[in-house]
Amino acid sequence: MPQPLATASLSSFFPSQRTLLGPGPSEVHPRVLQAMARPTIGHLDPEFVRCMDEIKALLQYAFQTQNALTLPVSGPGTAGMETCVVNLLEPGDTALVCINGVFGKRLQQMVERCGARAICLEQPWGEPVDHEQVERLLKAHPEICVLAFVHAETSTGALSDAETLAALARSYDCLSLVDTVTSLGGVPVYVDQWGLDAVYSGTQKCLSAPPGLSPITLSERAQKRIRQRKTPVQSWFLDLSLVMNYWGEGQQRTYHHTAPVNSLYALHEALLMLKEEGLTSAWERHATHHQQLRRGLDKLGIGFVVDKAYRLPQLNTVWVPKAYRDAEVRQYLLKAHNLEIGGGLGDFAGKAWRIGLMGYSSRPQTVQHCLMALEDALQDTLV
Ligand code: PLP
Repeated sequence: MPQPLATASLSSFFPSQRTLLGPGPSEVHPRVLQAMARPTIGHLDPEFVRCMDEIKALLQYAFQTQNALTLPVSGPGTAGMETCVVNLLEPGDTALVCINGVFGKRLQQMVERCGARAICLEQPWGEPVDHEQVERLLKAHPEICVLAFVHAETSTGALSDAETLAALARSYDCLSLVDTVTSLGGVPVYVDQWGLDAVYSGTQKCLSAPPGLSPITLSERAQKRIRQRKTPVQSWFLDLSLVMNYWGEGQQRTYHHTAPVNSLYALHEALLMLKEEGLTSAWERHATHHQQLRRGLDKLGIGFVVDKAYRLPQLNTVWVPKAYRDAEVRQYLLKAHNLEIGGGLGDFAGKAWRIGLMGYSSRPQTVQHCLMALEDALQDTLV
């Protein structure tokens, strides 16, 4: 006899309708949610294969690349990160890892778990990666074969110069491994033009699809390195030589794992919406709403952590004003206004808020809602 469930009353789960202005997930457009509710079909059904081909083409547009190896990994941004790291690095390799926030640190841990050596360039939180220091290290360590960095650090709100860093990687004969989880769709990312080699992103930020998938793209140089590996990739699931047979061209796909079919419908729709809007318009929209938010925050006396020269429009890190308790204000916003903003991480815990205006969350109404709710919270929660 099966044991009865301990909890007596259970029913269908209906979450509140929140305004999501945290560091992710961002709000998902109703069109994308509706796409997700369409009938599940077999993941090798010819109709679904067409959907996969279209997703690939749409991702090539989003990443601005012709790379044949462009696909969504079945897993969140961290899975895309791990895919790039474990495929590019072998035991004994050396990578230069730039750490200017939480996600650089995660990259370092993954590099070391591959048995590779991580030379770390640690930078103050809130600042972009310093390319002069990167060059100094590349010059001093010719054994470095991968330069890993985060384009848009979600933990701090700082944007690094991916074009310059990737050019440096090339001139010192190493591959660039680039985190575009928060940048893709929100600020320019030109994979081919900038010569980025192994690039991963996430669906839950500026693409505004539900969390759980990680688009990646790999240059010819990166693919060559994978083909020339001496040891098999330690992760079976993330081994790109196997995944490639599943996401390759046309109908000749071999089973690798059962794709998250409905999540992929959602990604297809979200990417289609990005294509309809156009990348330039999407970048401009993020910039416009960032300025709208900045003007309102100025009036409330709330200042930015990151210098405006490298501030992310889609992730606004601001100081918690003195005389307020971080968590108390955020709880008030959630309870009284159904509005989520993010707290600070690491060095910024308790000191900063992170206000995300990403993807579908980046619109005039959400900015107005945020400013009005913050004004109310500041009146109500003064210590
Ligand atoms: N990289 C960056 C810059 C991120 O902001 C995040 C998530 O916030 C990740 C990687 C990891 O993505 P996920 O949480 O989807 O695994």
